[in-house]
Amino acid sequence: MKTLFVKTYGCQMNVYDSARIADLLKPLGYAAAESPEEADMVVLNTCHIREKAAEKVYSELGRLRRAKEKRAELGRPLLIAVAGCVAQAEGEEIIRRQNAVDIVVGPQALHRIPEMVAKVERREGRALETDFAPEEKFDSLASAGADGPTAFLTVQEGCDKFCTFCVVPYTRGAEYSRPVAQIEAEARQLANAGVREITLLGQNVNAYCGRGPNGDAWSLARLLHRLAEIDGLDRLRYITSHPRDMGEDLIDAHRDLHKLMPYLHLPVQSGSDALLAAMNRRHTRDDYLRLVERIRAARKDIALSSDFIVGFPSETDSDFERTMALVREVGYAQAFSFKFSPRPGTPASGAGKQIPEKVKSERLLALQALLTTQQNAFAKSCENATMPVLFEKPGRKAGQAVGRSPYLQPVHVNDAEHLIGGIADVRIEHALPNSLRGSLADAPVLQRAAAR
Ligand code: SF4
Repeated sequence: MKTLFVKTYGCQMNVYDSARIADLLKPLGYAAAESPEEADMVVLNTCHIREKAAEKVYSELGRLRRAKEKRAELGRPLLIAVAGCVAQAEGEEIIRRQNAVDIVVGPQALHRIPEMVAKVERREGRALETDFAPEEKFDSLASAGADGPTAFLTVQEGCDKFCTFCVVPYTRGAEYSRPVAQIEAEARQLANAGVREITLLGQNVNAYCGRGPNGDAWSLARLLHRLAEIDGLDRLRYITSHPRDMGEDLIDAHRDLHKLMPYLHLPVQSGSDALLAAMNRRHTRDDYLRLVERIRAARKDIALSSDFIVGFPSETDSDFERTMALVREVGYAQAFSFKFSPRPGTPASGAGKQIPEKVKSERLLALQALLTTQQNAFAKSCENATMPVLFEKPGRKAGQAVGRSPYLQPVHVNDAEHLIGGIADVRIEHALPNSLRGSLADAPVLQRAAAR
C-alpha cells in the first residue's frame, strides 16, 4: 500500500478537486497519509488568487525536494505533483525551476492523474497536462464521497466575465456547466451516504446553464428545485455568485425553497461606479443595491456576505468612501476584504495609478473595522432566537457538538454529541466573536441523522 498527501490551497473548488484526486488514485493503491512526511506521493493543489501564489508553491517545492532526496537515500521514492491554478498558469516553467517535480496537471485535466502517475512509476519521464477539457474531466471523475453530513458538489467551472483583477478565466478557462443528470446522481449518492447539506460550487455558479434530460438548458434555480426533491437532503447552498447572473427565478427560489439556506455570498468588490467599470464588473452600484432590495423582498431573513478589494488602481478617497457607504447601506453578516495585489497577466496588473501600500493598509483597516462591527451586530441579533443547527463534529468539551446555523455560523452546544449528522433546533444564548453558543431547544429534535 502506498500513501498520498494532498495539500490544498484556496477555494472550496480546490477542496472538491483534492477529494477527487484522492478518489482517482485509490485504484492505484494510494491510501491517505496523515502528513507529507509519511507520504509516497505529495500533491500540491494550488491556488493563484493570493499574492505571490507561485512563489509560495516554489518554496514548498524546495522543501519537498529535500524530503525527496532524503527518501531516495533510503530507497523510498517520493512522487511530487503540482495541480490546480498555479500548475495551469506556470505549466512547464514549474519543471524547469524545480526538477524534483514529476507531474504538473491543470484543474481541467486532473482526471488524467492516474495515467500520469503510471507513466512516472514506469520511469517514462515527467508528465505535464494543462489542457482545458472540463467535459472530459467530469465524465471521468468518480462521484464525490461523503465525509460527514455536509459536502461540496461542483456544478460549474470557469468564467467568461474577465474581471480585470482576476486570473480565473485564464486558469480555469471558459464557463462550463455539468449536465443536470450527472449532478443529480451525485447529489442522490451523497444523500444516501448521510449528507444533509450540499453546497453547489462554481466560479460563477449562478451562470449555471447545464443540459437537462431533454437537452434544454437549465438555470441554477431549476437545478436547485430538482435537488430540493431529494429525500434526506435538507439544506442547499451555492457559491460564488455574480450579481449580473442573479436572475428572477433564482431570487424566487430563495422565496420558494425552504431547503435553500437564507445566506447568500454576493460579491460586489467596490461601491464606486468608476472602479466597478475599471474592474469590468458589468454592473453599477445602483444595480447591486436594487438587487439586494429584490432579494430581501423575496426572503426577509436572508443574510448577505460579500468580497471587497481596496486599493484597486486609481481608487481615490471618494471611491473608497463610496464602498464604505455601500457597506453601511447593505449591512453584511460576513465579508471578505483584501488589498489589491496585481496578478501577472491580468489587465489590472499594469493599469492606472497603483495605490501606495500604506494607503491600501489604512483603507483595509477601516473597512474591516466596519465589517467586523456589522458581523458582531448580526451575531448579537441571533441571541435568543431558536434556529435549526446541522451538527457536524464533536466539540472540545465532553458531550459537546459543533454545528452550523442556517447562516453558516459555527454553533457550540453541550450534550449534543449524539446528534452529530442530524439537525436539531437550538436556542442561541451567546454570540461570541466567531461563533454562537446555545442549548437544545425544548421542542423535539426536528430531524435525526439518516442511516449511514
Ligand atoms: S466573475 Fe469572479 S471568477 Fe470571474 S473573472 Fe470576475 S472575479 Fe474572477
